[in-house]
Amino acid sequence: MQLSDSRLRSKVALTAVAFLTATLVAAVSGDAPARRAVNYPTRTMGTYANAILVTADSAASAADARVVHRVLARVDSLMTNWTTTSEVARINRVAGSRRTRVQREVAAVLDTSLRLWRESGGAFDITVEPLVRLWGFLGGPKRVPSEQEIAAVMPRVGAGHVHYNPRTRMVRFDRRDVRIDLGGIAKGYGVEVAAESLRARGVTDALVDLSGNMHALGHPPDADGWRIGIRDPRDRMQYFARLTLHDESISTSGQYEQFVAANGRTYGHILKPRTGHPVEGLISVTVVAASAFETDAWDTPLFVLGPAAAKRKARANPRIAAVLVAPGTAGVDTVWVEEALRGRFSLLTEADSLFRVRYF
Ligand code: ADP
Ligand code: MG
Repeated sequence: MQLSDSRLRSKVALTAVAFLTATLVAAVSGDAPARRAVNYPTRTMGTYANAILVTADSAASAADARVVHRVLARVDSLMTNWTTTSEVARINRVAGSRRTRVQREVAAVLDTSLRLWRESGGAFDITVEPLVRLWGFLGGPKRVPSEQEIAAVMPRVGAGHVHYNPRTRMVRFDRRDVRIDLGGIAKGYGVEVAAESLRARGVTDALVDLSGNMHALGHPPDADGWRIGIRDPRDRMQYFARLTLHDESISTSGQYEQFVAANGRTYGHILKPRTGHPVEGLISVTVVAASAFETDAWDTPLFVLGPAAAKRKARANPRIAAVLVAPGTAGVDTVWVEEALRGRFSLLTEADSLFRVRYF
């Protein structure tokens, strides 16, 4: 994900995956006022966000939406890599030369990121920042660097360089030139905090969507769950499949969102920390879990791990369930759907000839 780059906004805005058939339908029961789903869109973290609130009183829900927007703006201002004033920018400036105490929310994300680095065998690594910059995904221009350039930044990459004490919240890098990038996880954190704020305000039915990282509370007016479209990784249609969610989260990550096109191929914005190159193997990863912090956290390393290892990792982790799209031959891609999602996953009729579905 790219945080706060206005030049990328229009492009990223095309990544909407929520298809909400329910949003305009009012449910009327007895004499109770009609409840309907009201959209409160905004722009934040370099992309679009939308709070959909199910309400009979849109004046009251406007206040709830403002809370969601405020939470997302705060998380952006703390965690973006696109300004010099964020907490992440401050850490990147000072932690190479001295220990420094990390703001509480950034500390939570840092702690989870380092745990995920270990759990994913190094596939999720926030120290990819120099590589992300080198490929032009942070500030641009996007380009394919030479092998020498990649080799030159590789010694700076590796979360083992980050020494963090969760008890004191003190962090220190063991090299001056280490830099961190929370772009693979901060959006999900923002969505989760926003959803928790809604819950704390007594909201029972809502959907918070930040560029495909969503938390679904309750259900829309006319159905028992939120039906979420999964974006077609090849952009032939808006979405190719649907999943029904109820009090849980989903994140989809695709190599289509940010990429460099060169030498007759495209290079996506998720990088393999071990090689310094964009990952190959999958074209889309969707994760379902209780919290958006967790779904955004896992979509990135599952991408890096590739089809076989991602299937193993997802199956072994009872907290997450995955849908993986692997490129196929003759224009037919394979959609790997984890067994736990059987019954809630459906391929669209229009997508029938373009995908074959397999369960794992
Ligand atoms: P998006 O919703 O934008 O696709 P992702 O969750 O897929 O976001 O994260 C992609 C972002 O994660 C990249 O733009 C980059 O900032 C960061 N990133 C890239 N590769 C890795 C990696 N191996 N580990 C952790 N973060 C990464
Ligand atoms: Mg992610």
